[in-house]
Amino acid sequence: MDEQWQALVEFDKRHIWHPYTSLSHPSPIFPVVSAAGVRLTLADGRELIDGMSSWWAAVHGYNHPVLNAAIENQLKSMSHVMFGGLTHQPAIDLAKTLIDISHDDLQHVFFADSGSVAVEVAIKMAIQYWASNGQPQKQRLLTIKNGYHGDTFGAMATCDPDNGMHHLFKSVLAQHLFAKSPHCHGQQQADQTAIDDFEQLLTSNLSSIAAVILEPLVQGAGGMRFYSTAYLKRVRELCDHYDVLLILDEIATGFGRTGSLFAYEQADIAPDILCVGKALTGGYMSLAATLCSSKVAEGIGSGQHPTLMHGPTFMANPLACAVANASLKLLLNSPWQTAVHAIETQLQAELGPCSQLSAVKDVRVKGAIGVIELHQPIDIHWMQPRFVALGVWVRPFSNLVYVMPPYVIEATDLSTLTSAIYQVVSEIDT
Ligand SMILES: *Cc1c(COP(=O)(O)O)cnc(C)c1O
Repeated sequence: MDEQWQALVEFDKRHIWHPYTSLSHPSPIFPVVSAAGVRLTLADGRELIDGMSSWWAAVHGYNHPVLNAAIENQLKSMSHVMFGGLTHQPAIDLAKTLIDISHDDLQHVFFADSGSVAVEVAIKMAIQYWASNGQPQKQRLLTIKNGYHGDTFGAMATCDPDNGMHHLFKSVLAQHLFAKSPHCHGQQQADQTAIDDFEQLLTSNLSSIAAVILEPLVQGAGGMRFYSTAYLKRVRELCDHYDVLLILDEIATGFGRTGSLFAYEQADIAPDILCVGKALTGGYMSLAATLCSSKVAEGIGSGQHPTLMHGPTFMANPLACAVANASLKLLLNSPWQTAVHAIETQLQAELGPCSQLSAVKDVRVKGAIGVIELHQPIDIHWMQPRFVALGVWVRPFSNLVYVMPPYVIEATDLSTLTSAIYQVVSEIDT
């Protein structure tokens, strides 16, 4: 890195917060000057193969000509207008597509500016649904441990109580209910102990529960855990039986990542409320959405509190909607299922041998997601530069080294990623 970049990085370390970092103990930071396909180019000219899709988002890779053109074209007519009292084609087209590709029950769309906000809106919808129906005491949520739903206060209150740092914010966080998490590893049987714990919490708190909120089949940032379709199916049955709403957070799993367009399809169920984000714009801009059924929308609209009280300044930003429309079209017209399946097969074959390494507790693969769980927490100050030195971008957290590459990655590039992971994990002293 030249002197000018070194000075910029020094400034960054002193003045800029990065996600989940400390200004007093800054972790290594790498300036990027461009990105194209599955490659990030660093300021010193090195190229890294991207294993992260910039946090599940860049499913088509970077600098895609079709996505670039969509933004450029939209820019010529308008970059933004307020959504209060106005509407536009990109938002209408996107709502149509989302309604079309999701379950038939989901007919109404709220555009949010980030995943966390989409979750906030889902929670508001659920509470307001019951308030409109004369049951304002139904304000609590039931979820499972190891979940992650975002960093804003409403969303954070539904994250795993330990790694969501609830103790720090206890007095300002809503107190929700956390059931035992289902077995990690997606056996097809429902895990009866976890189901029983869930049902017990549900029945003993029923009068105060508005909704259940879950990440279907894959818990992401709360531990990269996979669980069975049988468990998810049973949760839907219990929600129906006891009449509580089911919110599914597909912000990470949506748009093909687990092998189906939405993970809930694998359990053959539908949510009452669905959150999407991350890959929605192909990783180009921040945009998310909360969809709901007509039962929920009409329940809110026909009651004492018919106005849904949320409205971000940049709601349904036309640039973001335009690139989302282009990204979804690109995805749906591509052989994404074949691509995700090929990545899954290759990850199973190439990450499998990591299970022989002494530092490794578990290796698991689902769709285009590969996870190596270690016995011990990772020293990111050591591990991050090692990955960069091997020419790959892998960003571990806690005791997890994982990849979820762009769907367009070629087999040879994916092999470079998996060999780097094997190499780095084998270097850990145990
Ligand atoms: C990333 C994520 C969120 C939060 O989305 P942001 O855009 O970061 O606010 C919520 N839920 C899940 C499952 C996520 O993976």
